[in-house]
Amino acid sequence: MSVSGLCQICESRPAKERCDNCGTLACEQHYERGLGLCADCAAQAQPDRGSDEVDTHRF
Ligand SMILES: [Zn+2]
Ligand SMILES: [Zn+2]
Repeated sequence: MSVSGLCQICESRPAKERCDNCGTLACEQHYERGLGLCADCAAQAQPDRGSDEVDTHRF
């Protein structure tokens, strides 16, 4: 799907996706494609992340 507007998390990048859970518009940096969730919901869905997260670009 495509959406228009700014990411509601960082409010600086154009939103690319909408969170399936809360409906927040999120840019690529703040959207977890594998989960279909924004960064906030993904963090709540995966409180124990860190062990097998290997393909996410972070800096
Ligand atoms: Zn963002
Ligand atoms: Zn969300």
